[in-house]
Amino acid sequence: MPPRPKKFICTFCRNEQSYIDYKNSKLLSGFITYYRSMQSRFHTGVCLKHQKQLANAIKKSRIMALLPFVRYEKKK
Ligand SMILES: [Zn+2]
Repeated sequence: MPPRPKKFICTFCRNEQSYIDYKNSKLLSGFITYYRSMQSRFHTGVCLKHQKQLANAIKKSRIMALLPFVRYEKKK
């Protein structure tokens, strides 16, 4: 039998973080893609509880203009 893949450990669970701050845009920017859309749980390895909190934090920080909605590209 092939070995089981390594189990992901949620980064927020590891740091015992119960609340995700929407003002911490540096942290949240690690969970968005090149085109600035939210990254899925499959890619980040965040647990369901924290993914829901993370989604709310990203949405909130977008409204507060800390994170972009879409990627801005200059016209040539
Ligand atoms: Zn977690």
